[in-house]
Amino acid sequence: MCGIIGYIGNKNCVPLLIEGLKRLEYRGYDSAGIGVIKDGQSIIVKNKGKVSELQAKVEQLDLEANIGLGHTRWATHGIPNEINAHPHQNSDGTIFLIHNGIIENYKPLKKILSQEGYKFSSETDTEVIAHLIDSFLKKGFDFFKATRLALLEIEGTYGLAVLYTREPDKIIVARKGSPIILGIGNNENFVASDVSAVLAHTKNVIYLEDGEIALLKKDDYLVRTITDDEVIKEVQEISMTLDEIDKGGYPHFMLKEIMEQPESLRNSIRGRLLLEEGTAKLGGLDNIIDDLLDVDRFIITACGTSWHAGLVAEYMFEQFIRIPTEVEYASEFRYRNPVINKRDAVFFISQSGETADTLAALRETKLRGGIAIGICNVVGSSIARESDSGVYIHAGPEIGVASTKAFTSQLIVLALITLLIARRKNLSLENGREIAKAISRIPDQVAEILKLNDKIEEIAEKFKDAKNFLYLGRGYNFPVALEGALKLKEISYIHAEGYPAAEMKHGPIALIDENMPVVFIAPKDATYDKIISNIQEVKARGGRIIAIASEGDEEIKDLVEYVIYIPHTIAMLKPILTVIPLQLLAYHIAVKKGLNVDQPRNLAKSVTVE
Ligand code: GLU
Repeated sequence: MCGIIGYIGNKNCVPLLIEGLKRLEYRGYDSAGIGVIKDGQSIIVKNKGKVSELQAKVEQLDLEANIGLGHTRWATHGIPNEINAHPHQNSDGTIFLIHNGIIENYKPLKKILSQEGYKFSSETDTEVIAHLIDSFLKKGFDFFKATRLALLEIEGTYGLAVLYTREPDKIIVARKGSPIILGIGNNENFVASDVSAVLAHTKNVIYLEDGEIALLKKDDYLVRTITDDEVIKEVQEISMTLDEIDKGGYPHFMLKEIMEQPESLRNSIRGRLLLEEGTAKLGGLDNIIDDLLDVDRFIITACGTSWHAGLVAEYMFEQFIRIPTEVEYASEFRYRNPVINKRDAVFFISQSGETADTLAALRETKLRGGIAIGICNVVGSSIARESDSGVYIHAGPEIGVASTKAFTSQLIVLALITLLIARRKNLSLENGREIAKAISRIPDQVAEILKLNDKIEEIAEKFKDAKNFLYLGRGYNFPVALEGALKLKEISYIHAEGYPAAEMKHGPIALIDENMPVVFIAPKDATYDKIISNIQEVKARGGRIIAIASEGDEEIKDLVEYVIYIPHTIAMLKPILTVIPLQLLAYHIAVKKGLNVDQPRNLAKSVTVE
């Protein structure tokens, strides 16, 4: 998820690593560290917080070395602090490494290694790799083979770079699921998670593919598969310039994060879906799962976009788990003397895990004995720490103020929770498999929708001067109407409202005229015919209609001005697909109005005030 940089050559690598880390800062991170080999010894400097703070710490040491690694961490396992920051070492400090990704089987590996006498100093999943490589070195394998064999034991994702003080002329690099490149220079070579970190030094790069491992020396390199077959790699020349690479080549974080959704959704699902058993595996709920089967009520509290995710979950929970569910703004919940008892399970959804009102609602719930479950993106955040149990959404750092990828990851995690509990209660194997399969297809389906970006930009051009917008949807897609309207409000400052489509007749219909764009979220589902009638009603009053519809729906074309098609999926997952065009529509309208989409006026990313 976050940043990797490494150097081997004749220069002092220390300023070079810091500079590389600064170039990776746009990806977001919570701590950073560097490690070098000097006179046959490893020296590691780590820090919680900014790269500039790490730099100040490093500068005090007057450190010089010709080989080293740097990392910006975005915690997935273990809170962001100095100990959990990378590089991670084996016990005698001869091996150290940096890692992006998640080691899914770190728990069983940690158990085996602990039984063999290995001592762990961090809470990370990453640290097991250092001890595992050590265990193969102790069996007599050389550095390259020991690393290769260790990686064969690992399940999960990694972009990895490893150093060994006894073979101080090599960096070993490997990739599975997390991007990594080799930068090829003149008598010096680099490794990085993304070209931006090396572009100032070389334009010649090798992109490692999943399942490949490389041995990098200052004047040579070799790439093999982790099953030890030879691979011939091509050195590619990058045409990008330094000016273009901030934000990974995208003009805004928001667009980068929208486009990243196939990947962020894959990360949210990774290791959690059991297709054969038709269920999900969520370690964070293990301690309370039996209680959850038997609660009287679910309550979901959240704010803003997370509250919309909660509304979708209400439909999921009641349809499949059959436990009454209430969704409430955290700010209202905490102040209205809510009735909560120990047979209530209360979910707290927050991207940052620091949202003040949601945190206060959590504390109120715990005081009254309810079961508190956190659903957060930021590992080690207050809500994650104070909840009885919880699930991380693993969407990766979200920097744009308007939430996009965190929302879709919240939805997919809520679907996994639904599947897990429903299967334990009354959902059949067959239906469970159907849901699991549909979940597994979502990332690719999102990628399909993202290909419509140009078309959506054209639609945005036509509507950018509108003063008001109405968003209408029903059932699972009613909360998507709210979310579409919120996105537009947040970044384009156009007044927009979301409504359940059937409510239109009870008020908002009075607003409709030829100046009122109406966005209908109208995929084929149980309420499709009803929503077509609502579309007719708007059309009869001259409203301009954009529809989000299911692939193959020809009927809707004749009724509306623009249709954006989404692929088929089951009803509970449709919001993850229908919201994508709405994110892009809001984004393009705001950009066309010349607004700062990443930092809209008056808004903050993590709302830590009430
Ligand atoms: N899973 C690792 C950790 O929590 C790596 C996280 C990252 O990609 O930065 O330390």
